[in-house]
Amino acid sequence: MNPEGRLLTDNPLLRRLLISRWPQWLVGATALAVFTYLALAGIAGTPVGNRNLAITLVWIAWWGALILILVPVGGRLWCSICPLPLPGEWAQRGGLMQADGRRQLGLGRRWPRRWRNLWLQNIGFLALAIFSAPILTLPRATAWLLIALVVIALAVSLLFERRSFCRYLCPVGGFIGLYSLLSPLALRVKDPQVCRTHPTKDCYRGNALGHGCPWQVYPGTLNRNANCGLCLECLRTCPLDNVALVWRPGQSDLAAGPGRRPLHMDEVFKGAIMLAAALVYSAVMLGPWGALKAAAFNVFSAEWFTYVGGLLVLALVVVPGVLALAASIGARLDPSGLLRGREGIRRAAAGLIPLGLGAWVAFSLGFVFANGSYVLNALSDPLGWGWDLFGLSNLAWRPALTGITPLLQGFALIAGLAGAAYITFKEVLHTDRTIRSSLASVPVLTFYALCGAALMVILS
Ligand code: SF4
Ligand code: SF4
Repeated sequence: MNPEGRLLTDNPLLRRLLISRWPQWLVGATALAVFTYLALAGIAGTPVGNRNLAITLVWIAWWGALILILVPVGGRLWCSICPLPLPGEWAQRGGLMQADGRRQLGLGRRWPRRWRNLWLQNIGFLALAIFSAPILTLPRATAWLLIALVVIALAVSLLFERRSFCRYLCPVGGFIGLYSLLSPLALRVKDPQVCRTHPTKDCYRGNALGHGCPWQVYPGTLNRNANCGLCLECLRTCPLDNVALVWRPGQSDLAAGPGRRPLHMDEVFKGAIMLAAALVYSAVMLGPWGALKAAAFNVFSAEWFTYVGGLLVLALVVVPGVLALAASIGARLDPSGLLRGREGIRRAAAGLIPLGLGAWVAFSLGFVFANGSYVLNALSDPLGWGWDLFGLSNLAWRPALTGITPLLQGFALIAGLAGAAYITFKEVLHTDRTIRSSLASVPVLTFYALCGAALMVILS
């Protein structure tokens, strides 16, 4: 039984390209070289943020590509070429391109059971969020952040098994994983029955051709994208040609139905934190409120502590609290009982994912188009030392596509709201298709509509 969708790896050319280690290795190694250069540029270059390549390439070009293209289309595609864990992975495997998965260095400890979830990633993301204003504008802060992430990933790879850093610690990987549930691109086994009867499970254990799943996932039962890093090792190791890259309808992983489970509470909070952060970043970076901007930038001032308190309360209390209230009101109207209790909140929270991604796309469209010309300046003068490599270093600041940006932002928010409505209806109606059940969705959808409206007001 094939998975729903088109099996991209049925194309022999694409399959050969993906099974070969070279293309993926070259892209990842190039990304590592670029990140290394950016870290050096951040430390040695000009402290003026919009003149330093570390700021412009990371927070405008990379961020724009990640949120506007890679995550919506490819889910965890970035994770398959991310340079941050590469030094750790190379050390763990004992070589730059070590294919033999039976060879592993390091202590290989199991990640502590209590932290096998998103909570540390939630804490890490919030820590970055409260210092985001200086990180986004001070090249040295960005440089040290990149270095710290590589060093932590290296240390974790030497102590713990496989990609524990990516799976349980990386603050970027946490939200990419959550939003990858919307992605049309997925890795799945062609026939789960073949896996059930295959005794050696090479995809998980590894063999001479490749490594056991670095993300600690067993592909035979994989039915959601969140924890699959699209590293393609299982495509290389499976001796029965039972693994495929699949192109299927977006949101497939969120649709309620047999074999699907509601979000876990750590994922609910991840969704709430991301939506709250999109609201706050939009207000700080793109809104007209000077006092708010000043509070976010003046780290450790009294205003900054108020700003941080507001951000944390919004992310950890207001968004999840109002969502829980909306779900409990809906539960009174819901004859099927799907919105009742903690599980009801977990079901209702599925809409946070499309709405949150829509919110981040809308924010990033404004941010990237407004500041994109700084990337050209910095490419021509990467360290801010007065060079002019491409004749662009004195190009005047020029926001791009100003005429259509609001339209695109509105479209992104409406698409996010439509996705939230679709998922919420599916969650509530998949067992009981009555008018009363539809009404049960109304409080939750009203909450999502209010969040979308707040974002539209901030961005307008
Ligand atoms: S090696 Fe292939 S057939 Fe065996 S369990 Fe893994 S994916 Fe299934
Ligand atoms: S080995 Fe397969 S299941 Fe595991 S992360 Fe890589 S692509 Fe995903």
